[in-house]
Amino acid sequence: MSECVFCKIVAKELPSDVVYEDDAIIAFRDINPVAPVHILVIPKRHIKSLQDTEPQDEQLLGALLSVARKVASEQGLEGYRVATNIGKDGGQVIEHLHFHVIGGRPLAELPSLG
Ligand code: 5GP
Ligand code: ZN
Repeated sequence: MSECVFCKIVAKELPSDVVYEDDAIIAFRDINPVAPVHILVIPKRHIKSLQDTEPQDEQLLGALLSVARKVASEQGLEGYRVATNIGKDGGQVIEHLHFHVIGGRPLAELPSLG
């Protein structure tokens, strides 16, 4: 069994509040939201981070961003943020590629994520 928390969510070994799912992608609510809407969009396949993607993952990366746009629309967001943290210095805690979709309140300017 994988030790990766997000792989466990993909495998439904851990519960999550799923808002979108297809063959390659799942999106679910963040357990510790920093805004009224905070959804994580992830590939079902374990990829460590954006930095670990390859040219053949371009279609998947596009699809992940399309799902981010779709769930943001479904949540009624007009202005929002899509972000991915890469590596320890990039603030990445879970080493399974994920895009944060954050909104529902005015957001601080970068570099603050919240
Ligand atoms: P990172 O800092 O790696 O970019 O973000 C990881 C995110 O995953 C954090 O916002 C954290 O709250 C969220 N998270 C960590 N564990 C779980 C979990 O078991 N379930 C859900 N839904 N979110 C989680
Ligand atoms: Zn994983």
